Amino acid sequence: MIHRVDDRLRDEVRRFRLVFLCTDCSQFDPDGQRCSLGYPNHDHLRCDLDQQDELVFCKSFELT
Ligand code: SF4
Repeated sequence: MIHRVDDRLRDEVRRFRLVFLCTDCSQFDPDGQRCSLGYPNHDHLRCDLDQQDELVFCKSFELT
């Protein structure tokens, strides 16, 4: 799911400490840097909201 990144989202991510990357997901295998469900995770491994105007959110994200 692609979200537009704007100043409101940046502010909410910081204020509410929102997480959405693989590294915060229970399906993430840190040893292999891969998704245990086998999903391609390139778009979900890193994010710099100050440099991006879009964010690709994984619908299978599960908070650890
Ligand atoms: S389910 Fe999605 S967010 Fe979680 S590790 Fe796999 S690709 Fe990343």
